[in-house]
Amino acid sequence: MRPIQMVDLKQQYEHIKPEVDAAIHSVLDSCAFINGKPVQDFAKHLSAYSGSKHVIPCANGTDALQIALMALGLQPGDEVITPSFTYIATTEVIALLRLKPVFVEVDTQTFCISPEAIEKAITPKTRAIVPVHLYGQSANMEAIMQIAEKHNLYVIEDNAQAIGCNYTFSNGIKKKTGTIGTIGCTSFFPSKNLGCYGDGGAIFTNDDQLAEQLKMIANHGQKIKYYHEVVGCNSRLDTLQAAILNIKLKKLDEYIAARQKAAAYYDKAFAGHSKISTPFVASYTNHVFHQYTLILDNVNRDELNKYLAEHQVPSMIYYPVPAHRQKMFEAFGGGAYQLPQTDWLTERVISLPIHTELDQDQLAFITQKVLAYINK
Ligand SMILES: *Cc1c(COP(=O)(O)O)cnc(C)c1O
Repeated sequence: MRPIQMVDLKQQYEHIKPEVDAAIHSVLDSCAFINGKPVQDFAKHLSAYSGSKHVIPCANGTDALQIALMALGLQPGDEVITPSFTYIATTEVIALLRLKPVFVEVDTQTFCISPEAIEKAITPKTRAIVPVHLYGQSANMEAIMQIAEKHNLYVIEDNAQAIGCNYTFSNGIKKKTGTIGTIGCTSFFPSKNLGCYGDGGAIFTNDDQLAEQLKMIANHGQKIKYYHEVVGCNSRLDTLQAAILNIKLKKLDEYIAARQKAAAYYDKAFAGHSKISTPFVASYTNHVFHQYTLILDNVNRDELNKYLAEHQVPSMIYYPVPAHRQKMFEAFGGGAYQLPQTDWLTERVISLPIHTELDQDQLAFITQKVLAYINK
């Protein structure tokens, strides 16, 4: 059996090595390292794949979120509603821009922001909502968009973990996550479902004016070289990364299917166990399984994590500390929040290895070890 990893990037690379190596060499030969043709091609391909009118590549997912917030003309102190149960980047950029993050609960079944909690947190200063499609399934976007419309709020989707996920509206219309809100953001960090071999990110919008603004901000606030209209930043996707992503984008649906197959194996192995809740998938979304995350009941989660490590099975806690309990947010009143559902999840979640290269032997070994510990 091959060693088990949370994400097996090496094995995945082996399958596409000739194509990737050729693409890298062609970039090296061209020396067009910045904004080369593969970058523009990738934006077009990703636009076609996602159905988003505009795709603006940038340097990473955190920048994508930051640039999205910068493009909306928000003022210091404006409130942005976001889940506490997420990766730090989502909430960090809000604070970085001197906006006020307002942390709300997630639904304990879907791990995604609760529309009811959003509604309760709205004040006259609220300007935007940042839902996160956590672990690879969509937040309840129809409900979120209804709230946003009612209160005239922007919606920035953090789609770093769910690229390729489909959301189905109650009228049957399907859209890709990241293309529903005002702006969508994603990351091509190597371990993400569409990962490059370094850092990368992209911003999605269907709004022509906003697309211009986003492009300008990502490029030092200029439309015409050396004429700077607004304070921006420097955030580019490398040509090398774009060349790799052009190859991997063609495989994305296949990669998603491989993750779903591994998840189905786990689901079956843990089905009906009184101490294990397998991922719940809401009726309005599919799940692209960036993570496969269990909720444990009456199990010493940290001991299980240790036991698995001793048997060469990696497992991770995403995330051990929610945003409202991070020291970073003390000055933003983090400590004053009461988010019992978030705390409850934080203590009980554990993520198992999930990637495109897991085979039956590895899955059997992982599930055996999990069950051996929990049933002992
Ligand atoms: C990975 C991730 C990001 C940030 O992406 P980077 O490319 O690492 O900057 C933001 N939000 C979520 C939910 C993520 O998982």
